[in-house]
Amino acid sequence: MSASHNPISIQGVSLETIAKEFGTPVYVYDGEKITNQILTLKKAFEKVPLKIKYATKALTNISILKLVKRAGGEVDAVSLEEVKICLEAGYEGKDVMYTPSGVSMDEIKEVVGLGAMINLDSISILEQFGQTFGDSIPVCIRINPHIMAGGNAKISVGHIASKFGISIQQLDEILEVVARYQMKVTGLHLHTGSDILDAEVFLKGGNVLFDAAMKFPDLKFLDFGGGFKVGYKEGDVVTDIMAVGNRVSEAFLEFCEKYGRDLELWLEPGKFVVSESGYLLVEANVVKKTPQITFVGVNSGLNHLIRPMMYDAYHGIYNVSNPYGKPATYNVVGYICETDTIAAGRAIEEVRRGDILAIKNAGAYGISMASNYNSRLRPAEVLVWEGKAQLIRKREEFQDLIRNQVILDI
Ligand SMILES: *Cc1c(COP(=O)(O)O)cnc(C)c1O
Repeated sequence: MSASHNPISIQGVSLETIAKEFGTPVYVYDGEKITNQILTLKKAFEKVPLKIKYATKALTNISILKLVKRAGGEVDAVSLEEVKICLEAGYEGKDVMYTPSGVSMDEIKEVVGLGAMINLDSISILEQFGQTFGDSIPVCIRINPHIMAGGNAKISVGHIASKFGISIQQLDEILEVVARYQMKVTGLHLHTGSDILDAEVFLKGGNVLFDAAMKFPDLKFLDFGGGFKVGYKEGDVVTDIMAVGNRVSEAFLEFCEKYGRDLELWLEPGKFVVSESGYLLVEANVVKKTPQITFVGVNSGLNHLIRPMMYDAYHGIYNVSNPYGKPATYNVVGYICETDTIAAGRAIEEVRRGDILAIKNAGAYGISMASNYNSRLRPAEVLVWEGKAQLIRKREEFQDLIRNQVILDI
């Protein structure tokens, strides 16, 4: 698959038609792509008992969660609210891995009540959990293996200065708390970052987990987290998922032999499952030539897709209204009153006012990170499934913006 080709249609449904029917800006997802990504992961890890816990924070729409379930996936949730959304989508509590960071014991108790697997990420919360539940509720422990991984500083979460997980150097302390409350630790977990490229990082993390795991006799699974890198632009190196699957599975099976029991291998892919499935369709409001740069101003911005400004993320942009136009170089900018550059110095098929542009890789961390900044409405979402484009979230309306304001009589 080339990351560069102009995506004129999804499953035979033209993106221009979708823009006309549902209006812009609109997020569009290719359901087939989502299903295929899950099948690809299953294939890559076919040698081990695998559970795919889709990281719902990437894209939380309930219809998407149902699609993931249909494809045989389960879910990873990072908040009480995400757990509840998963239940709405038809998952049972036991299908949900709950991996919060820095939440209160009250929230954790509520999620225990919903039946999710709890993943603990500090000694303090481990201690409180032990005091409250003893050996009655099995838990998973999130280990920070102290390895540097991931595409950039904001998405690297497994290094020594990261807030996530319990340091592997505090293993003795963990064991002491676990023993004191006779806690039943059925899983060990790590998630070291996003945009991880090669098997080495997963193996390095794996080795840390394997060593620690020998100290926990009740294990049922090891969770390697998410972070598989996907393609953003032509020539991008992406995770060779088959190679990662093979090498990690081999190491895992070897470990299970040593451990003396067959365990499950869990993964928590977010981006890998949904990133490439998504397009944000926007309209060119203005083409503005300046002495140096030609700007294309679109009817969206960092309020709808924050990744370019937050992570310097690259998103391919294509003119679906003029797919055979002669490419010119543009800065594509949003309408937010803030520096709001979606792409700079980008070659795009000639853009005319009113053209529909497709912003690629918009499935993951797109609408789930969207806001109402500048009092703009959040876009609609459309799923293309079985050759049909269907609305899965209505565009916000003005009333949605002020619904919760308490207007004083002054
Ligand atoms: C965000 C997150 C993931 C998913 O990361 P991707 O880079 O989208 O694959 C998985 N596990 C945990 C605990 C996370 O916080």
